[in-house]
Amino acid sequence: MNGPALAQLPVTELKGVGAALQLKLEKLEIYTLQDLLFHLPLRYQDRTRIMPIGGLRPGDEGVIEGEVKGADIAMGRRRSLVCRLQDGTGTITLRFFHFSAAQKNNLKTGTRIRCFGEVRTGASGLEIYHPEYRRVDDTVITPVEESLTPIYPTTEGLNQARLRALTDGALAYLANGSLTELIPENLRQQWRLPPLNDAVNYLHRPPVDADQEQLLDGYHPAQRRLAFEELLAHHLSLLKLRQRTRQSGAPQLATTTHYRDQFLLQLPFPLTGAQQRVSQEIAADLSQPYPMLRLVQGDVGSGKTVVAALAALQAVEGGFQAAVMAPTEILAEQHFINFSNWLEPLGLQVAWLAGKLKGKKRQAQLDVIGDGSAQVVVGTHALFQDGVNFANLGLVVVDEQHRFGVHQRLALREKGRTDHRAPHQLIMTATPIPRTLTMSAYADLDCSIIDELPPGRTPVNTVVISDQRRPEVVQRVRDACGQGRQVYWVCTLIEESEALQCQAAEVTAEELREALTELRIGLIHGRMKPAEKADIMASYKAAELDLLVATTVIEVGVDVPNASVMIIENPERLGLAQLHQLRGRVGRGSVESFCLLMYHAPLSQQGRERLAVMRETTDGFRIAEKDLELRGPGEVLGTRQTGMMSFKVADLQRDADLLTRVKQVASQIATDPQLSDAIIHRWLGRDEQYASV
Ligand code: ADP
Ligand code: MG
Repeated sequence: MNGPALAQLPVTELKGVGAALQLKLEKLEIYTLQDLLFHLPLRYQDRTRIMPIGGLRPGDEGVIEGEVKGADIAMGRRRSLVCRLQDGTGTITLRFFHFSAAQKNNLKTGTRIRCFGEVRTGASGLEIYHPEYRRVDDTVITPVEESLTPIYPTTEGLNQARLRALTDGALAYLANGSLTELIPENLRQQWRLPPLNDAVNYLHRPPVDADQEQLLDGYHPAQRRLAFEELLAHHLSLLKLRQRTRQSGAPQLATTTHYRDQFLLQLPFPLTGAQQRVSQEIAADLSQPYPMLRLVQGDVGSGKTVVAALAALQAVEGGFQAAVMAPTEILAEQHFINFSNWLEPLGLQVAWLAGKLKGKKRQAQLDVIGDGSAQVVVGTHALFQDGVNFANLGLVVVDEQHRFGVHQRLALREKGRTDHRAPHQLIMTATPIPRTLTMSAYADLDCSIIDELPPGRTPVNTVVISDQRRPEVVQRVRDACGQGRQVYWVCTLIEESEALQCQAAEVTAEELREALTELRIGLIHGRMKPAEKADIMASYKAAELDLLVATTVIEVGVDVPNASVMIIENPERLGLAQLHQLRGRVGRGSVESFCLLMYHAPLSQQGRERLAVMRETTDGFRIAEKDLELRGPGEVLGTRQTGMMSFKVADLQRDADLLTRVKQVASQIATDPQLSDAIIHRWLGRDEQYASV
């Protein structure tokens, strides 16, 4: 390292940076000179040459120089100061809507000025509104800029000129090569990565001949160099997390099959090939002396619950408890019923815990969890609150983990941990995660995919229909129910407000009751008491209701095989992944199923594209890829999941092709913990506590 390390130098090192400016910079997350250098321009202006006025076209942005041919106040719709500027090639109008008398006086005929601005078509032909300008002396040569002019992301009260001056200051330090190069020379050579100092310098002050389009798109080698290092940092932090978990011990669970065999024997169906394969992968993990961290992805209806039950049985067989956590009470209850039906015949006890459970009943459950007489415990996140003590927890299953954030997932790992041992963890998700995202956001997990649906399912026919044809849709519901089918009617709202959403569902239910007097219609929404919801679901499942009007609470996990028609109102408001989840509620039996996406016209271009994807495919992975393409990773993973996913330079989609290389380099660098930490610290700095959960 030569020169002071810029990561250690606060911005106040720079001339003229006092407390007020420091605060503004903090708003941009700039604390050190290194931060300042990693604060990259959004785009650039070309002020490196003077353009002939005669050659200007609307939309051009650049520097011109000429002689003032008069400045007058024009009255029009808005009063403005109009100044004619001429060079040897042509004339243009400079127009100011805000101006002072002094300004007008300064623009005397014959004055030479140089200006910068964007050319547009105005009232008098080509015009520039509010150009930056200054007087120039025609007896000396006033130099133009030598490099492209950066335009930085900024905040109130901090202008571009100031930011430029600040980065000039920081760049001066670069001359000593003091931004520490963290990627080893041999790796840089191998992957042709330019030196960090060069890349940073280039991006702040690109030379005149720089490829601006490439820079704007983020594909310049200098940008890719930084994106590479940033992705590397994220990857390394996940590897570190994984290593840390690996260092802890875990119950080594034998693969004897006493319970497993009995369970499979009583199951009314054979496992699919994919279920077998994935449960073998899990079984192998569980027999290791360190904690399993496995993500199981399986489309809706692929049979993940059975796979979870098999894992739980292996824990029980080894003398440990298994906890199964679901994100909602409805789903937790459904799991509880399934697990009880499956495991009680084997002589096992299943406990149940949710927020709504209070008083004596709760205590009774806490007792059987605490003394170990319940081998399997099912519940919501209430399972992991204080006061819940497991006798000997060996396995945690988290279902539909999409509902839980990255942080919760990490925190969970700590539950049931003793000094030397942590429980195994199995995470199940029905929302397929595009491969690029798995590689980055989930690099700390092993991944299994259940890529096969149980036999006998018929794909859902999806129809996209305008809500102007609502009467036809209602008729269709009548016909379907007349044939003994059951129907879901899903209401959505733009507002995140649950109250409004529930209200909308109530109104819809009322309207449908009036229109369809012969049908038995139920209503379920998020504001109902859990017991009420459970009752409604139970009657629907028992076919005591023909039609269930619902908010998106039914999204996850509810299983009613006889339901074969689903209407989704305003599907354009939902993400593709969510639509896919909803649609997965039908098509679970052997009769042909339908999903009607009843949109409200007009649809945006993107809205149309998204609904078309739903019509064309039922493959969750294709839908997820498409979702990523249309909406970007933040949206796809949900904000709660993005803790790790906010990048300064990198863009997961644009830079997806770097990920394979990043992975390779990461595995080489991970062998040097000090170096790895330095890279993580540079890019994750303040977020690092997250890596140490
Ligand atoms: P998900 O993966 O969406 O959680 P579930 O575990 O709820 O799916 O299973 C969906 C339905 O498929 C359930 O009714 C379940 O009993 C049934 N099922 C699971 N595995 C099989 C199989 N191998 N053959 C037939 N049906 C199965
Ligand atoms: Mg499920």
